[in-house]
Amino acid sequence: MPLATSKTGQRALVLLLLALLGSGFLATSLVSYRTALESIRESIVNTELPLTSDNVYSEIQKDLVRPVLIASMMARDTFVRDWVMAGERDVEQMTRYLHEVQTQYGTVTSFFVSERSRTYYQAQGVLKQVQEDTARDAWYFRVRDMATPYEINVDVDMANQDRLTVFINYQVFDYQQRFIGATGVGLTVDAVVQLIDAYQQRYGRGVYFVDRTGRIALTGADGGPQGARTGQSLGELEGLRELLDRAGQPEDGNFRYEEQGRGHFLNVRYIPELNWYLFVDKQESGALAAIRHSLYLNLLICLLVTVAVLSVVSIALRRHQTRIAALATTDMLTDLPNRRGFELLANQAIQEARRNQGPLCALLLDLDHFKQLNDSHGHLAGDEVLRGFSARLRQDLRQSDIICRWGGEEFIVLLKDSSPEQARQLAEKIRLHTEQSSFHHADGQLRVTTSIGLAELHPGDTLDQLIGRADRALYRAKQSGRNRLCEETL
Ligand code: GH3
Ligand code: MG
Ligand code: MG
Repeated sequence: MPLATSKTGQRALVLLLLALLGSGFLATSLVSYRTALESIRESIVNTELPLTSDNVYSEIQKDLVRPVLIASMMARDTFVRDWVMAGERDVEQMTRYLHEVQTQYGTVTSFFVSERSRTYYQAQGVLKQVQEDTARDAWYFRVRDMATPYEINVDVDMANQDRLTVFINYQVFDYQQRFIGATGVGLTVDAVVQLIDAYQQRYGRGVYFVDRTGRIALTGADGGPQGARTGQSLGELEGLRELLDRAGQPEDGNFRYEEQGRGHFLNVRYIPELNWYLFVDKQESGALAAIRHSLYLNLLICLLVTVAVLSVVSIALRRHQTRIAALATTDMLTDLPNRRGFELLANQAIQEARRNQGPLCALLLDLDHFKQLNDSHGHLAGDEVLRGFSARLRQDLRQSDIICRWGGEEFIVLLKDSSPEQARQLAEKIRLHTEQSSFHHADGQLRVTTSIGLAELHPGDTLDQLIGRADRALYRAKQSGRNRLCEETL
C-alpha cells in the first residue's frame, strides 16, 4: 500500500471510529438522561410533592387544627352558653374561663363576643363593645352571618398590641340554635409563618396557603410564589393565573407551570379544617440540576474514553504502519536492508556526497561458487552461510556505511567519505576475513570466499551508473579467478 493512501485510510478509519463512538456514546447518554428526567419528574409529581403535602398537612393538623378544636369546644361549652343566657352577670367568671383556656392551651388570645350586649370579653377582662359601623369589628358581623360554623381569619389583634394574628372565629348558639355570640382563640401569625418557613427549609419547596377565591392567605417570611404577598391573587402571577382561570378557584391536583422560562411542579390540596388550599411548589431546575450534572459528567467520561480509544488506535496503527514499512525494506533472511531500503538510503548518501564534494565508494560482493555449496550441503546450509556472512560483514563496517543484500548471494556496500584507497583496504579486509571464516553447520564447518568489485562515485554519476561500474569490476574479479578485489575506475 502506498504510504499516502495508507495515511488517508488511517485518517478515515479514525474518523469513522470517532463518528461511531461519538454517536453511540451521545445516544446512550441522551437516552439515559431522558429516562432519568422522566423518572425524576414522575417521582416529583407523584411521590415527592404529595408526600410533602401530607407532611405539611399533618403538621398543620398538629399546629393549626388544634386551635380550631379548642374554639369548637368553647363554642359548645355549656358554661359559656348558660352564662350568656343567664344575662352575662359576672364578668369575672367569663374572664377567668377565657384565661384558663389561654393558659391551658397556650394560645396568645381567647375571646367571647356576646350578640346581646356586643361586649368583647377576653382573658384580661372586657376589651370593648363591637360596633357594626367600625371596620375593625366587621369580622364579628361576618361571623354572625356566615353559613359555616367557623372561619379562620388573619387579622390584627387589639388585645396583643395589634400583632398580626390568625383567629379561629366560632359561632355560638343557645340550646334552641339561636346565635348568641362568637368565641375562639388566636395565634400570632409569627408562629404560623415560622411554621411555613420551617416546612420550606425542611423540604426545600415553596409552601403557602390560598383561600377559596384564589387569594394568597398565608406565606413564609419571604412571601409567596414570585415574592407575592398575603392578599394578592394568583390571577396576578405568571403561570399560576392559568390554574385559577381553569376553574375560577384553585383545584386539587398536580400541575406543571412555567414562569420566566423556569418550570415548576405544583401540588394543590384542599385543607377542609382551614378552608384553604395548601400549595407545595418545587422548581424544576433545582430538582433536575443533579441529573443534568450527571449528564455532563457522563459526556465528559465518554469524551475521555473516545479520546483514549482513538489515541490507542492511532498509536497501534502507526506502529503497525512502521512495522509494515520496516518489513518492506528489510531482508528477512539476513535482517539487512533489501534493495528498496537500500535505494532510499543510497540516493540520500549520493546527494550528500555531491553536496559535500566528498568521496564515496561502492563495493559489490558476490560469494564464490555458492551454487556448489547449496548443491552439496543443502539450501539450509546456504542460508546459514548467508546469515553468518552478513553478520560478519556488518562487523567490518562502520555505523555510517550503507549495506544491502542486493539479491541471492550478492551484497552491496556504500562507504561514505571513503577514498578509493580506504575502500580498497576495507574490501581487502572483508575478503580476507571471509576467506578465514568458517560457518557452523550440522555438516561441519563451511567455508566460502567472496569476489568484490570496487567503484568510486564520479561527479554526475547516478546510483545505477555507480553500481554498473562496480558490477563490471566484480565480473572481472570472477573472470580472473575469484576471491579477489577488482576496481573499475573509468
Ligand atoms: P559464481 O562464483 O559465479 O558467483 O557462482 P555461483 O554459484 O555463486 O553463482 P550462481 O549465480 O550460478 O549461483 C548463485 C546461487 O545462489 C544460485 C542460488 O540457488 C543461490 N542462492 C540465491 N539466493 C539464495 C538463498 O537465499 N539461499 C540459498 N541457500 N541459496 C541462494
Ligand atoms: Mg551471483
Ligand atoms: Mg556467486
